[in-house]
Amino acid sequence: MKTFEYRTATTPADGLAPNAVFLAGGTNLVDLMKLGVATPDILVDVNRLPLHEVAELPTGGLRIGAGVRNSDLAADRRVRTAYPVLSQALLSGASGQLRNMATTGGNLLQRTRCRYFMDAGMPCNKHRPGSGCPARDGDHRNLAILGGSPACVATHPSDMAVALTALDAVVQVDGPTGRREIPVTELYRLPEDAPERDTTLEHGELITAVDLPALPVAARSAYRKARDRASFAFAIGSVAAALAIEDGLVSDVRLAFGAVAAKPWRASVAEAELRGGPATRERFLAAAEAELAAARPLRDNAYKIPLIRNLTAAVLTSLSGDVR
Ligand SMILES: Cc1cc2nc3c(=O)[nH]c(=O)nc-3n(C[C@H](O)[C@H](O)[C@H](O)COP(=O)(O)OP(=O)(O)OC[C@H]3O[C@@H](n4cnc5c(N)ncnc54)[C@H](O)[C@@H]3O)c2cc1C
Ligand code: SF4
Repeated sequence: MKTFEYRTATTPADGLAPNAVFLAGGTNLVDLMKLGVATPDILVDVNRLPLHEVAELPTGGLRIGAGVRNSDLAADRRVRTAYPVLSQALLSGASGQLRNMATTGGNLLQRTRCRYFMDAGMPCNKHRPGSGCPARDGDHRNLAILGGSPACVATHPSDMAVALTALDAVVQVDGPTGRREIPVTELYRLPEDAPERDTTLEHGELITAVDLPALPVAARSAYRKARDRASFAFAIGSVAAALAIEDGLVSDVRLAFGAVAAKPWRASVAEAELRGGPATRERFLAAAEAELAAARPLRDNAYKIPLIRNLTAAVLTSLSGDVR
């Protein structure tokens, strides 16, 4: 591992040096440093900043401090009751030990698990811009079917981010130009011709919190994740959903897909198809199909289309109370 300087942050501005990065739980960053993929000169440890609370917002909803550990957030009574999709997404990720270290901010900003990205000796447009994308003709079984580009077909690995996307969460940021709010749907970038930029954050910007809006539909929500092993594995496809039904018709619905794109994929087309119509499995399948019409799979990942379609129908059917 390259040598680096270690500092403890007392303010967000401590992360402003050109090759400084924030260190939270370290479960992703330190791995990438050991692999030689991340090579910062300065680590700015944010664990002593006062970012460890889950607080109720005056408008309803919750403010989750960026330093809140994934296991604490999953266990929070208010989250389990009002946003079960978030608790389930967190508990589906990693292992108990990792969730005890992993933080809200770090989970959102973890890097892709594309195997070429994680190998410092390989060409990869994400860690060495302009060097090429071996995944397109190589191993892309776990990679994107939506929103990819000739430059990159990486997927975002976070489960929590998929739930936050369905919930219309808003990220609070403090940085060199002051404080700002970013809807989580606008935090992540599609690769286009600059795949090295995962997010819309600028250098030195610290995530301080994530706000969950008061969202009645979220009380009836769930997360379904498909993976190669029963536990301790990243998603090969996942669905976060919330559903409200009145008189047999869908009165509100929120849907997001995971492990299909460089960002958690808000399924707005499917939501529009579903709103106001009957809550049947056939319509859930058709809505997912409509969203997935935009999919452009590669040689080995077309299986994600039926996978996501069936996960969507399964989670919405279970939320509708219809177990046919
Ligand atoms: C074996 C294994 C299995 C895993 N399985 C899953 C899984 O199934 N699902 C899943 O979602 N995740 C999984 N993970 C990933 C794990 O959830 C992440 O490593 C973790 O959430 C990262 O959080 P952290 O606090 O450790 O971040 P760090 O590693 O400390 O940081 C990650 C990145 O975020 C930046 N950062 C951290 N905090 C902030 C902040 N407040 N503001 C701005 N930047 C910040 C850092 O600079 C760094 O770039 C797995 C990890 C491992 C090792
Ligand atoms: S998919 Fe993206 S991260 Fe993976 S090799 Fe291609 S450019 Fe790199």
